[in-house]
Amino acid sequence: MTDPLALIKPAVRALGHYTLPPRQARVKVDQNENPWELPDAFKDEVFLRMRQAPWGRYPEFVPRGLLEALARFAGWRPDGVLVGNGSNELISVVLQATVGEGVAVALPQPTFTLYASMVTTLGGRVVTVPLDAELRFDEGALLAAQAREGARVLIVCSPNNPTGSHLDEPALRRLLRAWQGLVVVDEAYQEFTGWSAVPLLAEFPHLVVLRTFSKAMGLAGLRVGYLLARPELATELDKVRLPYNLNRFSTIAAELALERYDELLAPLVARLIDERERLAAAIAALPGFLPYPSRANFLLVRSAWPPGEVHAALAARGVLARDVSRYPMLAECLRVSVGTPEEGDLVLEGLAAFSAARTGGGA
Ligand code: PMP
Repeated sequence: MTDPLALIKPAVRALGHYTLPPRQARVKVDQNENPWELPDAFKDEVFLRMRQAPWGRYPEFVPRGLLEALARFAGWRPDGVLVGNGSNELISVVLQATVGEGVAVALPQPTFTLYASMVTTLGGRVVTVPLDAELRFDEGALLAAQAREGARVLIVCSPNNPTGSHLDEPALRRLLRAWQGLVVVDEAYQEFTGWSAVPLLAEFPHLVVLRTFSKAMGLAGLRVGYLLARPELATELDKVRLPYNLNRFSTIAAELALERYDELLAPLVARLIDERERLAAAIAALPGFLPYPSRANFLLVRSAWPPGEVHAALAARGVLARDVSRYPMLAECLRVSVGTPEEGDLVLEGLAAFSAARTGGGA
C-alpha cells in the first residue's frame, strides 16, 4: 500500500504547521480583533434579514449588493471587487493565480506568516527581504530583490503584522513605479491608519489591495475579506475563487456592518487609536519594555527579558498576548493587541509588575 503521506508534495511536508492553541483568556490580546462585540440590535437585524432569506438556495453567484456597498465604502468600482471567506482566502486566490513552480515572490520579513507558506505550497520561491534595523520597509532592498532574484510578485502588508510598520504614499508610489510585476498591499489594518492605497488603483494596473472585516469591522468570527483591483485583473483572479465562497449569513452581516459603519464602527476605531497611543506611551515608560511605532491596532513590544517569560507572566494574570520571538529579527519581541481601556490597564499592570520584579523596583 502506498503511504498516503508520500503523496503530499515535499514542499508541503517541509512546512511548519501554522496553528494556534485554543486558549481562552480574560484579556485576549493575541489576535488583533476588535474587543467590542457588536450590539444585540445589530445582531438582531442580521438574524431578521437571514430569517427572511432562503436557506435552501445557493447565495447569488455574484453578491452584487455587497460588492456595490464595498465599492462605495472603499472608493472603488464594483467590477473591481472580490469577496472572500476572510482575506486569507483572497491571499490564496492571488497566489494561486500567479505562482507556479519556481515563481519568485518577494516578501518583506518579518510579516504575516501565511504568505510564505502559501507561496511554498504552490511551488513558488520566497525571496525574503528583511526590514531595516528599525523594522521599516527597505525600498532599496525590495528593488534589489526584484533585480537579483527576478521576483515578480510582491506582498507588502501595511500596516505590517506583526511589526506595525507602515509604507507611506510616496514610498508606495516609488515602489509601484519601479516594480515590474504585481504589487499586493495587504491592508488588514487600514482602518487604523486613515490612509489607503485604494486611490492608486486608478493609476497602477498592477496593484491589488486586500482588506478584511476581521479587525476594525468586528466580524472576525464571520470570515469576510475583500480584494480591490482593476476590473481586468479582478476578472482573472475571480476565475480561481471557489463559487459561493461567501455564505449568505456573512454576506448579510457584512452589508449591515457597512451600512452602520459611521454610526457603530468608526467611533470604536477612533477609541482604539486613542487607546493605542495611550498604551504605547505607558509601555514606553516601563523599564525594560519598548513599543515600536504602530499604525495598527496592536503594538510590537521589545522586551529586555525573554518574551516567553513575559508571555507566561501575563498569561498567569489572564492576559493572553502573542509571543512573536520566533519571527525573524523579533527574538526579543511580543505583540499585544489594543483592546478596551480596561483590558489595556490589565496589560499595563502585568508588564509593570514583571518589570518591577526584574529590575528590583517597587510594586
Ligand atoms: N492579513 C493580515 C496582515 C493579518 O494579520 C490577518 C489576520 N491576522 C489576515 C490577513 C487574515 O485575516 P482574515 O481574518 O480576513 O482572513
